[in-house]
Amino acid sequence: MLLTKKQAERYVRHLIIPEIGETGQKKLLDSSVIICGENTQEITIPALYLAAMGVGNIFCILSDNRGCASLFADVVDLNGDVKISEADEHRSAACRIVAGSSRFVGEAAKTAGSEKNFIPTVVCVSGRWKGMLKVFNDTDSLHAFASALEVCAQINNPFSFALALGWTACAVEAVKVCLNLCDENNKILAYDLLHMNFVSYGENEQERAVNEFCGDFVVLNNEAEKLSEARVLIVGAGGLGSPAAIALTRAGIGTIGLADSDIIEASNLNRQILHRESRIGMLKAESARLSLSKMNPGIRINTHVEYLSRENVNEIIKDYDIVVAAVDNFSTRYLLNDACFFMKKPLAEAGVLKFDGTATTIIPEQGHCYRCLYPNLNERLINPTEKGILGAIPGVMGFIEAAEIFKIITGAGTLLKNKIILFDGMDMEFDSIDMDKDPDCPLCGSNPTITRI
Ligand SMILES: [Zn+2]
Repeated sequence: MLLTKKQAERYVRHLIIPEIGETGQKKLLDSSVIICGENTQEITIPALYLAAMGVGNIFCILSDNRGCASLFADVVDLNGDVKISEADEHRSAACRIVAGSSRFVGEAAKTAGSEKNFIPTVVCVSGRWKGMLKVFNDTDSLHAFASALEVCAQINNPFSFALALGWTACAVEAVKVCLNLCDENNKILAYDLLHMNFVSYGENEQERAVNEFCGDFVVLNNEAEKLSEARVLIVGAGGLGSPAAIALTRAGIGTIGLADSDIIEASNLNRQILHRESRIGMLKAESARLSLSKMNPGIRINTHVEYLSRENVNEIIKDYDIVVAAVDNFSTRYLLNDACFFMKKPLAEAGVLKFDGTATTIIPEQGHCYRCLYPNLNERLINPTEKGILGAIPGVMGFIEAAEIFKIITGAGTLLKNKIILFDGMDMEFDSIDMDKDPDCPLCGSNPTITRI
C-alpha cells in the first residue's frame, strides 16, 4: 500500500480516476509546486486547491506576504498531509504557477526561468473578465511571452472572476505537470467570462491572443450598490458551492444563503475548499459560513440545513433573487429547475465528472430549462461519487457559475442562456453548444405535464 488508510479515504475521488490512481496520488503527495503571486489573498485559491488535491509541498513567492501565516494555517487545516511555506526564486520544484495582472506576470515571468534546470511554468494573465493561460516548458518562450505582455494596459480591478478561474485552472495544470499528463501542444487558452467566450490559440498566434486579451475595459454602472442589495441562494456547500460562494463573497454580494443538510466527510476534502479537517462531522453550511465570514465579514450569510424537498423548496428560495445549483444529484437539479421556473428565478447550473465540467444558465421564460436539456437523467447512469472528480475541476465550474450570477445582478455581458459550456480539463479546452427550448418539454413546453411543484 502506497497510501495510509486515512489517505485512501480522503483521496478516494482521485483514486478511482484511472489517470491518477494510488500511484498518481502518491506522486502528488511527493511533489512540490511553487505559487508565485502578488499577495496572500490572491494565492488563497490555488493554495487551497493544490492542498485539497494533495500536492505535498507548496512554496509561495509573494510580493506582499501580509497575512500569509493565517493562510498557511488554513491550508494545513484543510490537509494535514501538506507542507506550505514561503520560498525565494531559487527554490526548485516539479512545477511553478504564476498568475495575476499583466504587469505582475510580465515581471515575474522575466525573473523566472533563470534556474539551471527550467521548471515547467503555468502562467495565467488576467484582467477582470478576460484571461490567458499557457504552460511553458522552456525559458525562451516564457521570456518572449513576458515581453509580449508589455503592450497590455494595467487595470486595477476589484475581485476578478477571470483570475479566480485562472488560478484554479493553473492548479489543474500543475497537477497534470506533476503527473506527466500534460501534452506538449503549447496552445494558449484565452477566455472572456463577460461574454463566455473561450478560444484556444496555437503556438504562432501568441500575438493575436495578447492583443485580444488586452481589450478588458469594463466599467459597470452602480455595480457595488446592485451587488450589496442582491440575495443569492447557493444550493450545495460542496465542490461547486465552495468556489461559487467564495467568488460571490469576495465580489460583495449583500446576502448569501447556503442550503446544505450534509455533514463534512474526509472524502469531501479533495475539492471542497471551504471545509477543514478539524471540522469533519460539522454541517457543511455552518463550516462554509465560518470560512466565508472570515473572507468578508460585511456580508449576511443565512444557512438552511434541512434537506431540500418538494415540501420546503418554495419556502427556502422565495427570499432570494437568484439560485445557484451546486448539487451532485439529478433529482435536486430537477427540483430546483421546476421551483425556479414556477417562481421565475434565474438559475445557474453546473456539473462535474473526473476532468470534465458543464455549465448553463436558465432564465425562466427566456429559453431552455434543465428538463429541455436533460429530459430523462438517471442517477444510476452517471454518479460522480463513483466516477471520481479531480479536486480543482469543480473550482473552474463554480467560478463560472459565480460570474454568471454577477452578470445577472448587474445586467452586464452575455449569459450562458440557451447555451451550454463543456469544459475538458485534460485538454484545457472549453466548448459551447447552442441550446433551444424543447417545445415538448414537460415543464416549459407548449403542453406541460408538470404544472406545479
Ligand atoms: Zn424546458
